[in-house]
Order: sequence, then structure tokens, then C-alpha cells
Amino acid sequence: MRSDDTTRDAGGPGQGPGPGPDLRLTVLAGPTAVGKGTVSADVRARYPQIWLSVSATTRRPRPGEIDGVHYHFVDDATFDRMVEQGEFLEWAVVHGRNRYGTPRAAVLERLAAGTPALLEIDLAGARQVRAAMPEARFVFLAPPSWDELVRRLVGRGTEDEEERERRLTTARVELAAEAEFDHVIVNDEVHRATDELVSIMGVRTREGSGVGR
Ligand code: 5GP
Repeated sequence: MRSDDTTRDAGGPGQGPGPGPDLRLTVLAGPTAVGKGTVSADVRARYPQIWLSVSATTRRPRPGEIDGVHYHFVDDATFDRMVEQGEFLEWAVVHGRNRYGTPRAAVLERLAAGTPALLEIDLAGARQVRAAMPEARFVFLAPPSWDELVRRLVGRGTEDEEERERRLTTARVELAAEAEFDHVIVNDEVHRATDELVSIMGVRTREGSGVGR
């Protein structure tokens, strides 16, 4: 973990020192299948005062996903144009398949407006944000244990042996990235993990929000 967990005067884009809440961007990353999407959906559902960045992606929408809410679903040519025009704060190919990117302008607008802002992205993306915006806050979502991560990764049993091995190798490498982060949250229970994230962001957690705990 980094030792300097204070806002530094790094001159990041769109952020000046100022009164009020801690206005750093928060980046949530972690290994595949750890539940980042579930935690960010829980933030969306229970903490509407937190703005969640809407990424652009070249993957097709899944049932129930809404364009402009869950992602901006774009074609390859549009994504290419956005890259060329420098519209992304970061972008990456995820799982060797589709491209995902964080539109920069929306993030800067929210930070300038003083809205707590959250990105849920992969590890490669988090490293790019660290390079572009070192003053951001980096949070790693960790599984309760290696065995639990294996269960979540291969539990459905729909992958063949080679695919399972590939995923496990990736997971080992991804887990080692934990040391690069400012905070580590163990995703043992979704509401609890969400509330820990929210309080790290300086946002008050909801009384009694952890129903069922
Ligand atoms: P999914 O396709 O299941 O929604 O997301 C797959 C992966 O893409 C997740 O690990 C998610 O964190 C990552 N991801 C989503 N948006 C972005 C983005 O804008 N940039 C990067 N680098 N990764 C993203």
C-alpha cells in the first residue's frame, strides 16, 4: 500500500485545492470475478449522490443494460475516433476482446462541480489513471480468500480446462497488484464492502443500509 494517502498538490487536471469534501476521483479496481460490478451497482442503487462514470465500450449490450446508463455502447469506428481525439482518460482491451474507456470530460466536469466521482475499471485502466491523475484515490477490491475467488471464477463450470487455467493464471497476477493501491476492501458482503468504499470517499453511509447483516 502506498504510504502517502493524502491529497497531494500534483496539479491534476480540473482539480484545485478547495474547501469542502475530499474531491479526489476514486478508482475501484480488482481481479476478475471479485464482484466490482456488483459493488458499483450497489453504489448506484443506494448512493445516488455518488456519480459513477459511464464507460464507452465496444462490447454488445447484455439484456437489461441501458445505453448511456450502464455503458455508452459504441462501434469500433466510434471508439477509434474517441481514442484519436484524446477523449479518454484511460482505455484498455479487457479479457483480450472488447475495448472499454473512461470519457475524460465527464469526469473532469463532476470533479469541478464537487460531486464525488467513482470509476470501476480494470487494473490496466487503473494504472493509466495513476499516470494521468496521481492524486486520485485507488481502491482494490479483494476476494475473501483465494479459494473463494477460484469458486467465483470457475464455479459455473461452463469453461473448459484450458480456459479455467488461463483465468486462474490471470487471477494470480491480478491479485499481486493489491500492493499498488491506497486501500484494500475485502468483498465479503456486498453492502458492507460498498459502505466501506463510500466512507473512504468521504460520503456518509446510510443508517441501516446493511439490511440482512
Ligand atoms: P463487463 O463487460 O463485464 O461489464 O466489464 C468487464 C470489465 O471491464 C470489468 O472488469 C470492468 O471493470 C472493466 N471496465 C469497465 N469499464 C471500463 C473502462 O472504462 N476502462 C477500463 N480499463 N476497464 C473497464
